[in-house]
Amino acid sequence: MEFNGVNFDTYLKNYPNEEGYFGRYGGAYVSDELKKAMAEITEAYFTICKSAKFINELRRIRRDFQGRPTPISHLERLSNKLGNVQLYVKREDLNHTGAHKLNHCMGEALLAKYMGKKKVIAETGAGQHGVALATAAAYFGLECDIYMGSVDIKKQAPNVARMKILGANVIEVTHGLATLKEAVDAAFDAYAKDYENSIYCIGSVVGPHPFPMMVRDFQSVVGIEAREQFTQMTGELPDAVVACVGGGSNSMGMFSGFLNDPVDIYGVEPLGRGPKLGDHAATLQYGEEGIMHGFNSIMLKDENGDPAPVYSVASGLDYPSSGPEHAFLHTLGRVKYDVVTDDETIDAFFELSRLEGIIPAIESAHAVAYGMKLAKKMGKGSVLICLSGRGDKDMDYIIEKYGIR
Ligand SMILES: *Cc1c(COP(=O)(O)O)cnc(C)c1O
Repeated sequence: MEFNGVNFDTYLKNYPNEEGYFGRYGGAYVSDELKKAMAEITEAYFTICKSAKFINELRRIRRDFQGRPTPISHLERLSNKLGNVQLYVKREDLNHTGAHKLNHCMGEALLAKYMGKKKVIAETGAGQHGVALATAAAYFGLECDIYMGSVDIKKQAPNVARMKILGANVIEVTHGLATLKEAVDAAFDAYAKDYENSIYCIGSVVGPHPFPMMVRDFQSVVGIEAREQFTQMTGELPDAVVACVGGGSNSMGMFSGFLNDPVDIYGVEPLGRGPKLGDHAATLQYGEEGIMHGFNSIMLKDENGDPAPVYSVASGLDYPSSGPEHAFLHTLGRVKYDVVTDDETIDAFFELSRLEGIIPAIESAHAVAYGMKLAKKMGKGSVLICLSGRGDKDMDYIIEKYGIR
């Protein structure tokens, strides 16, 4: 299929290009020292992703450890309530550790093992990526250093405990605002000092090349499974596919399975409290081109051109940029990006719980909220939603802030 001059039959092979660009977005804006490290990872990845041994080992891990394939569930009661459109969810909440993040963490840690590295390093904000990586490190017997701002450490006590139980070192970052951005900087510094022994494991399809490509490839299992399962279940393709976009990994995994199909694809960003800068994290909707954390993409900027403060009820979505591939697909028009508010999200959180017996992560509830709106608009057909994770982590917060609806 051709779309605005891009041939999607060969898209996944041709994008990114050798320098890590999706059109004008992507690249590797890092120090010369780290450029060497990135080149080493790229080379190892290209060798390994063609190796039958690596592929078979990853397949075995996905089946025997992660519990894949995860199912697709038909949301019959919710669909009936909304009208004639049939809604379906791809159940990444049933992936081990309760979200899609383990898909790329197991891949990255397996790569680390093949490269002979002793340690994995990462930052974490809400702690979800830290927990997934600590799980992968425990599985492979790797050391694991997780950098986390002191503000987040206080807020996310259960995830800090999980990481420690799994054997990871949680390293407190106290400078600046002591949240995610400082944690990223500290983790990158630590990695730059020790890249011979360690590997940086990024938490989404962001960062310098090759990470956006690698994380997409590791997450593509979601889209590959979903396409096969959906066509087996219904005899056809879905009319629309929907996923939430923070950095953009669960969505890129899901979308990659359908880019070459006559399927409408929607990425959902958090509009939070509203369209004023600081009240949302709807990067592609309101942002402009810029470089941060080693890659060129679309980002939300403050008046000085620095990453703007962002807000979302979902801590996994409050990032002031998105992966370069999303910026590319947005510019191309192949994927449509739209928003839902906190309030619409919370409604969807309770609807899915009450009508279907599935408590979604607040991040995933954004995709559900959009799928529900789309169903009303479409009138007929089918919508497949990526349910990126389960909501156990969010229950205390929801009850405290919104009560039982
Ligand atoms: C981290 C997270 C997200 C957002 O990350 P992406 O890279 O955009 O997928 C979405 N859902 C859940 C459950 C998460 O933990």
